[in-house]
Amino acid sequence: MIKLTSHDPQETDQIGYKLGTMLQEGDVVCLTGDLGAGKTTLTQAIARGLGVKEDVTSPTFALIHEYRGRVPVYHFDVYRIGNIEELEDLGYEEYFYGQGVCIIEWASQIREVIPKEHLWIYIQRTEEDHREIRLEGTTARFHGIVEELNH
Ligand code: ADP
Ligand code: MG
Repeated sequence: MIKLTSHDPQETDQIGYKLGTMLQEGDVVCLTGDLGAGKTTLTQAIARGLGVKEDVTSPTFALIHEYRGRVPVYHFDVYRIGNIEELEDLGYEEYFYGQGVCIIEWASQIREVIPKEHLWIYIQRTEEDHREIRLEGTTARFHGIVEELNH
């Protein structure tokens, strides 16, 4: 696990972009943290790092937005999810175990269906209104990526 401090949205953007450049098809990135922590800000940067040119907006009501980058990018926001059936109706396994990169805001809401191999990111606002970003991967490859972000 590493902890990064982001002092402003631009710094979060740089972290996310760099992360995005290192991701590959099949990767699952889980984002947690309170409202306003910066999950969507980070997602937008990750998506750009993955080559997405379109604007990335929160899929709070749709649950998922899909984008075309160098691989497909599936942006989930499960803040408002009532139960796992809503994800099943979407056919979430096609995404979570598919050919794209999944970025899941509020992943802790659906912990029981998160694939074992994932990168978990927890963003917390500090008293100074900075952001502490904790990253923890469950695979050797994710460990390497996290190390790289620490440089
Ligand atoms: P979430 O998706 O977690 O609810 P958003 O990314 O939508 O959060 O909003 C984060 C807000 O916090 C934005 O208005 C952003 O400009 C602001 N902000 C301030 N400092 C930072 C920082 N260091 N990193 C990310 N966002 C920041
Ligand atoms: Mg958000």
